[in-house]
Amino acid sequence: MPYLPTIGLETHVQLNTQTKIWCGCKVDSSSEPNTNICPVCMGYPGSLPVLNAEAVRKTVQTGLLLGCKIGLRSKHDRKSYFYPDMPKNYQITQFDEPLCLGGSLEIEVNGKKKVVQINRIHLEEDVGKSTHLRGASGVDYNRAGTPLMEIVTEPDLHSEDEAFAYLTALKRILEYGGVSHCNLERGNIRCDVNVSVAEEGSEVLGTKAEIKNMNTFRGVHRAAAYEIKRQIRALETGTPLIQETRRWEDDQGVTTSMRSKEDAHDYRYFPDPDLAVIRLTEAQVEAWRADLPELPEAKRKRFMSELGLPEYDAGVLVADVEVAHYFETVVAATEGNAKAASNWVMTEVMRVLSESGESASRFKISAAALGKLILMVEKKTINNSKAKEVFSVMLEEGGEPETIVKEKGWVQVSDSSALEGFVTQVIAENPSVVDDYRGGKGAALQFLMGQVMKLSRGKANPKMVLELLKEMLA
Ligand code: ADP
Ligand code: ZN
Ligand code: MG
Repeated sequence: MPYLPTIGLETHVQLNTQTKIWCGCKVDSSSEPNTNICPVCMGYPGSLPVLNAEAVRKTVQTGLLLGCKIGLRSKHDRKSYFYPDMPKNYQITQFDEPLCLGGSLEIEVNGKKKVVQINRIHLEEDVGKSTHLRGASGVDYNRAGTPLMEIVTEPDLHSEDEAFAYLTALKRILEYGGVSHCNLERGNIRCDVNVSVAEEGSEVLGTKAEIKNMNTFRGVHRAAAYEIKRQIRALETGTPLIQETRRWEDDQGVTTSMRSKEDAHDYRYFPDPDLAVIRLTEAQVEAWRADLPELPEAKRKRFMSELGLPEYDAGVLVADVEVAHYFETVVAATEGNAKAASNWVMTEVMRVLSESGESASRFKISAAALGKLILMVEKKTINNSKAKEVFSVMLEEGGEPETIVKEKGWVQVSDSSALEGFVTQVIAENPSVVDDYRGGKGAALQFLMGQVMKLSRGKANPKMVLELLKEMLA
């Protein structure tokens, strides 16, 4: 009997605000443990939370990017539970009046497009981080109180590939929106996966298992694939499935039961009496909408229509928001020479970035400096192959392209009498190659060209050399 898997994702995204959601403590994952804490985020009795407006803006803007309806009235609730990484015995979250409702995200799997419906986005606080050492445990509360958005999909995904595509597309929106650092290794995006399987054509969904503890999108893909197989096997053998929470064991590649519905928590949600109801005006929401950054698809179209880039280039450049921003700064520094800028970014810059794994915003050569280098080629101050050498020098030693070219004496020779001298010499020294060329061997021209470049120590203007060679050999 064929089965249809169903997946719903609950994705937690740490916002990149400067300070925490209820207090002025710094949000910084690189600090020493328990240094960014205060009575508020430590939940001391009598301390009072004050909502960070920046966190509200970023959540609402994410909602706008995903086409959500923004709740003009919204509130925070206490979710009661005890766990050592949660200093207050409750987490402040949003229960029945979240900031954003509905929404959708388009994904593409194997060339097929599909719209995934979003249920809601709410704003809550992150908890601390437990570390289990040999014979002891420690808790770092630096993370407690980091603003966290939870983005919940409808049960709308039907394969591990769709789940993976959704997360990839979501990450791109979050990056473009500038609302999160989106660093997966640092846990900026964490996701729980709900999986069920039903007989094909069934009106009702199957019993779901919620899977936790994946650290990467690849992990989500593997966990979903495993869980779908496990549930199908259970259905085929008549083993009843129970609603439960399961844990992904990445090393073993399996999910194991953590707790069943029977011992699920009673969270006793109730409105937090220390926090006021959030009231937004239409005007405020519209102002935030007007302030939204350009999204990848719009940017891609603009790169084609405004900068005249080929579709391929535009697609490659917008795939990573930092590369897109870098490219735009390069274009601005090349007097609008977009195609030349695109060639340099897509080949030289992206090659170095993919080798080093660093992001374009930290690239060693500034966009302004690369722009100047490209202009020097366009203005024929240096030729293309020397420009690549300048690029290497800038990469290794830094510096401005003009200075490097001057110091190394790499200014292109475009003076025709000097070039004529080189060409005449090469023709005189290579009579048999000249005969080959005259006899119709096209490749001979490349050889002669190479000899002239060598003679000029790579500085000759190649276009002029080629013309001169053809002219003098005719
Ligand atoms: P709960 O009340 O257990 O938290 P929700 O209805 O809030 O469940 O849904 C949580 C997540 O689980 C959502 O992303 C939703 O799409 C997904 N989900 C709900 N039911 C199913 C199901 N039967 N199969 C797969 N995913 C589901
Ligand atoms: Zn604090
Ligand atoms: Mg729920």
